[in-house]
Amino acid sequence: MSAHSILPPSSAHIWGACPGFVSIKDIPEQPPTPASLEGDAVHDYGGRIICGGLDNFPKEDEIHEETGVVMTSELREMSLSYANLVADCVRRIPVRKGGVEKRLEIPDIHPKCFGTCDFHMISFQVNQIHVWELKTGYSEVSAFENKQMLCYLSGILHKYGMIDTETTVFFHVYQPRCFREKPVDTWMFRASDMRGEINKLKNAAYQALGDSPQCNSGPHCKNCDGKYICKAAIQAGAQLYEVTADAVPLDMDDSSLGLQFAIVDRAFEHIKALRTGLQTIVENRVFSGKHIPGYGVEYKYGNRQWAIPDNAIIDIAAEYGVDVTKKGVSSPNQAEILGLDKEIVKSLVARKKSQKLTKNIQQLAKRTFYE
Ligand code: SF4
Repeated sequence: MSAHSILPPSSAHIWGACPGFVSIKDIPEQPPTPASLEGDAVHDYGGRIICGGLDNFPKEDEIHEETGVVMTSELREMSLSYANLVADCVRRIPVRKGGVEKRLEIPDIHPKCFGTCDFHMISFQVNQIHVWELKTGYSEVSAFENKQMLCYLSGILHKYGMIDTETTVFFHVYQPRCFREKPVDTWMFRASDMRGEINKLKNAAYQALGDSPQCNSGPHCKNCDGKYICKAAIQAGAQLYEVTADAVPLDMDDSSLGLQFAIVDRAFEHIKALRTGLQTIVENRVFSGKHIPGYGVEYKYGNRQWAIPDNAIIDIAAEYGVDVTKKGVSSPNQAEILGLDKEIVKSLVARKKSQKLTKNIQQLAKRTFYE
C-alpha cells in the first residue's frame, strides 16, 4: 500500500480547483524547508503529548530526532498548547472514538484518496465530529469550508457510518503564528450542508485521474510546486503582468491612491523575487548548454593576462634580453613595447572568458501568449 496518496487531502485546495495539478509532470522535487521541518517536529511532539502525557514534552533545546529541529521555547509552547487544546476538547465530549495522525481512507471522494488527519474524534452519544488541524505557518488558514478537512470529514463519515443529516461537525484550526484575533479558528456546521462541497471534490478527483484533466489557474497556484512549468499559470501570470502596463488613473481619491500604491508595492517585491529566482534557473540551464527558447548566451573575452606566474614571465623575458620588472611585472602590451617578441607574448597569455544571457523574447512571447 502506497504511503502517499495521489490525491492528498493536504493539496485538496489545489486539485479541487485544478484537476490537472495531479498529472502535471516534471515538477522539481522540493526538499523540506526549515519551516516544514519545524512543523513536522511540532506535530510529532504534540501528538506524543496527547497520547502519552507530559512525559513526552520536549526539554528546552531538545533536538527532534527525525528532523534535527532544535525545540526552542516557541516550538515547545506550540506543541504543548496544541495538545492542551485537543485534551480540553476530548474532556468535553462523552464516549468518543478517534485518534492522532490516523490514516483515513476517503473512498467517497475517490478510492485512491486517503490521508492522515492531525486529530479527529467522534461521539455517537451527542452526534458530533471534531477535526483538528495544527498549522505552524504564518499565512492564515481558515476552518470555513476547508478542503483538506472536508476530505477527512468524508472519510470519517464513511468509516464510522454516521448519518450526515444528524451529525454536527466542528473544524478546529490551531494556528499560533497567524496574526488573527484568536489562535484557534473553529467552524461548526451540519455535516449534510457540506454534501455539495464534498461532491465537488469528488468530481475534481475523478477528473484529475481521468483521461484529460484540465488545468485551471487561480489563487491556488500560489501553493502549487508546478507553477514555474505550468502553461496555464504562466499564461495567467503574463496577463496579470500586462495589466500593470495599463495607464495609472490620475483622479484617484487619497485613500484609493494609498491602497493602490500599497498593493502595487507589495506585488513589485514579489515580482522582483520571482524574477531573481527565474533568472538564476534560466542562466544555469543556458550556460550548461541547454536550450531555453528565446534565450541564448553571449561570450566575451577580457584583456590579455599572463597565463603563468610572474617570476616565470620575468625569467623567460630575461632569456630574450628584456627586463619586464619595471614597476612590478609589465603587462603583455607593455612587454611588447619593451621589445619582447609578439609571438612569444602570444604564447604566454590568456583571456578570461565571461558569459552573458541574451534574449530574443519578442517572438517567443508572441507565439506563447497570443497565438
Ligand atoms: S500552477 Fe495552477 S494551473 Fe498550473 S497545475 Fe498548478 S494549480 Fe494548476
